[in-house]
Amino acid sequence: MRAWAVVESGAPLQEIELPTPEPKGTEVLLETTYCGVCHSDLHIWEGYYDVGGGRKMSLKDRGVVLPLAMGHEIVGRVVKLGPEATGVRPGDIRIVYPWLGCGTCKSCLSDEDNMCLQPRSLGVYQNGGYGTHVLAPHPRHLVDPGNVEPAVAATYACSGVTVLSAIKKVMPIDPDEAIVLIGAGGLGLNAIAVLKAMDHRKIVVADVSAEKRAAAERAGAHITVDAAGDGIAKRIMQACGGPVLAVIDLVNGSATARFGFDALRKGGKLVQVGLFGGELMLPLPIMPIRALTVQGSYVGTLKDLRELVSLAQKGELKPLPVATVPQSQANDALMRLRDGKVTGRLVLKAAAA
Ligand SMILES: [Zn+2]
Ligand SMILES: [Zn+2]
Repeated sequence: MRAWAVVESGAPLQEIELPTPEPKGTEVLLETTYCGVCHSDLHIWEGYYDVGGGRKMSLKDRGVVLPLAMGHEIVGRVVKLGPEATGVRPGDIRIVYPWLGCGTCKSCLSDEDNMCLQPRSLGVYQNGGYGTHVLAPHPRHLVDPGNVEPAVAATYACSGVTVLSAIKKVMPIDPDEAIVLIGAGGLGLNAIAVLKAMDHRKIVVADVSAEKRAAAERAGAHITVDAAGDGIAKRIMQACGGPVLAVIDLVNGSATARFGFDALRKGGKLVQVGLFGGELMLPLPIMPIRALTVQGSYVGTLKDLRELVSLAQKGELKPLPVATVPQSQANDALMRLRDGKVTGRLVLKAAAA
């Protein structure tokens, strides 16, 4: 198999040859057809997360091994089944749930593999969709996209489940209460689509880019707020008619976390999703006095993916704008994302598509 892989952290991706995996047991081998390019790929490529105060958390120390074919928003065509794999046939097109764990613990067996303590996620700890082939450990990790356009379906595996899972953490909430989304990139636009599908009536989006705010409005955001400069929390509160109950920070850097937190009203919740990095200083007495919650949210469960795809199949989920790029240009795509030149989602299209 070919892969456009990280060979050295922060250096251009290289096209390399890797042994094509042979499916054993319940494993299923797929040929990649589409793979989304996600912001977290940039962190994996760089090899660290910024944990604030000038400190970095190395991905190598967390078990990421190079060379690595990144890519966790994968759609592929089933090529070969292990002797114990059932339920799919060669030629079937499937979304591959990438947030894998050990496969045997309580979390994994409840289809909440993303909460497993031994992560083996595709495109992070194992080769993913920046390669021509990908191995799913079990057919249950494969979801039929049905009538959903495969390039769009690919984005549900990360960006889609991530926002669904984050939105569930601020629910239930009155449909006329503001839900503030920070960041109108791929995650933000998918979050708008999911909230619209849930008939939420007050979707507020903050972003520094006028172009991205315009994209958010086209996607159905009711209010947008300029997140550049000073006084952002104040602008959000003004736009929402007061402090807010729910903020979902899809960027989650020191600056966004600060204004997101500062915009909360009593009983409010800040859900932290992005991996931009930095730190947040919490004034401890304020937490109990104002009964605040700060909660992290990591991707989503396999159940979330099935739920999302079923919403999309019913036509209730507006597809986010995707642009396809040949898989062989994975490095260019990644650099465009790094340079902030992407509105919506870039999706690699493999030769097998
Ligand atoms: Zn992702
Ligand atoms: Zn597990």
